[in-house]
Amino acid sequence: MWEKETIKKVLINQEEIRQRCVELGAEITRDYKGKKPLVVALLRGSVPFLAELIKNIDLNLQYDFMDVSSYEGTESIGDIRIIKDLDSSIKGKSIILVEDIVDTGRTIKTVVETLMNKGATSVQVVTLLDKPSRRVVDVTPDYIGFKIGNEFVVGFGMDFNQDYRCLPYIGVLKDECYQIEE
Ligand code: 5GP
Ligand code: MG
Ligand code: MG
Repeated sequence: MWEKETIKKVLINQEEIRQRCVELGAEITRDYKGKKPLVVALLRGSVPFLAELIKNIDLNLQYDFMDVSSYEGTESIGDIRIIKDLDSSIKGKSIILVEDIVDTGRTIKTVVETLMNKGATSVQVVTLLDKPSRRVVDVTPDYIGFKIGNEFVVGFGMDFNQDYRCLPYIGVLKDECYQIEE
């Protein structure tokens, strides 16, 4: 395991993620019965979560991707830009926005507003992780995998300077990993 030297602890393991996605998928299936939602996933962090989640949603859904600017290192820049927009029209669509983690809330607030302005009928947010104590704008995700404390996490899609996304679990890095490399 190449990462073992750098991971301080495993916060949420693979089986816990898998099980929670079964529950979330069942909830979404129930809530969207008879509808054909468009699932919009935010690149790149939400990709493993999207893949695990949609296996458990029993609906004729479609999915598409958006990329918006996010963190450099561990600091939020607060200014959200669209880097890659959706490929298809969303007029009249019921959208499920998939995010890896909601922190300050700025990203999902901006993206939800953007999608509603483009004519979506509804936008609900499903996030794997939520850090409610870090919120600076007033948003609450509709579906939450796990609430966590004020800790920077990596794995299952989430990165530190683009590394660690491929880990099958969610973990916390050792403090020395944040020291600037020469
Ligand atoms: P927000 O706009 O809510 O402040 O930030 C959301 C984005 O910041 C997430 O989609 C994610 O890319 C990044 N982010 C926030 N907290 C963490 C964290 O603990 N670990 C990682 N890897 N990214 C985070
Ligand atoms: Mg993200
Ligand atoms: Mg990031």
